[in-house]
Amino acid sequence: MPTVAERIGRGRFVSFELWPPRTPESARSLEEALDRLTPLGAAFVAITYGAGGSTRERTHDLVVRLVDSPLLPLAHLTCAAHPRSELVELMERYRQAGVDNLLALHGDPPLSATEELPEGDLRYAVELVALARELGFPSVGVAVHPEGHPAATSREADLAHQAAKLREADFALTQFLHRAEDYFALVDELHRRGATAPVIPGVMPITNVRQLGRMTAMSGTTIPLALAERLQAVAHDPEEVRRVGIEHATRLCRRLLDGGAPGLHFYTMNKAAATLEVCANLGWQTAERW
Ligand code: FAD
Repeated sequence: MPTVAERIGRGRFVSFELWPPRTPESARSLEEALDRLTPLGAAFVAITYGAGGSTRERTHDLVVRLVDSPLLPLAHLTCAAHPRSELVELMERYRQAGVDNLLALHGDPPLSATEELPEGDLRYAVELVALARELGFPSVGVAVHPEGHPAATSREADLAHQAAKLREADFALTQFLHRAEDYFALVDELHRRGATAPVIPGVMPITNVRQLGRMTAMSGTTIPLALAERLQAVAHDPEEVRRVGIEHATRLCRRLLDGGAPGLHFYTMNKAAATLEVCANLGWQTAERW
């Protein structure tokens, strides 16, 4: 199986994130998204994992199903709330199924949860990177946070931890962002600390105003004031909100690529339309690439 690291080294690319479905309705939505996104020729598709194991089998089944598809799967795995032995078992199952690409994460509780996740045997994502290497994964990525991780004690300590993690990994995906400057500032800070593996910016086009509060609170991302004001001004009109969100995401993607980002990672929320629209605006060519 090709690795994410190899593919993203071959020139501009897009990739996207999907969730394993929870209900028959969300299963239909996922299938539709897969059908519509496949022709984009993505370098890889990242499949999320419910921290603590809430999607353990569903993530596994979707990732393994994609091994024999045109889409290269990147399996998310989180270390919070798991004993080491469970993580080893999950990763060995992936290795046996031919899955080579892992995104090593700490994990967050679901948006609806009122309590923190219990600690697992591994405290930080960097320890999961080391375990994945031990078990023979040839391609291991990590998450990085351009605006800082919400629980970090200081910006300096957070940057030091993020850089230490990226030095052990093959690539990083960023938390979604709305300002290209945040991406470039993070990449500079990581480089200064000797972490030079590719960092792929995450883009989540805003398509409704409800999305804003929930997602930003959880992820620690801020909406630029000018964008927030434009969205508020049209909040009564869902079509206009969508138009503003897509326009902003398109401009952001252009700035990221023009400034040297290696590619773009779309947070799709299992819906293809916004990603397809932004890619079309960018003139993304969907020719066979891999
Ligand atoms: P870590 O790198 O472990 O960092 C967590 C905190 O610990 C940070 O504040 C960091 O500064 C601090 N820290 C790190 N190392 C040390 C150290 N040595 N000493 C002291 N402090 C340290 N969540 C899910 O549950 N499932 C998913 O599928 C998922 N996918 C994601 C994909 C991407 C691209 C991103 C950006 C996030 C994703 N998340 C997911 C959310 C992620 O789990 C949370 O952001 C989580 O709070 C942090 O994860 P991390 O891997 O960056 O953690």
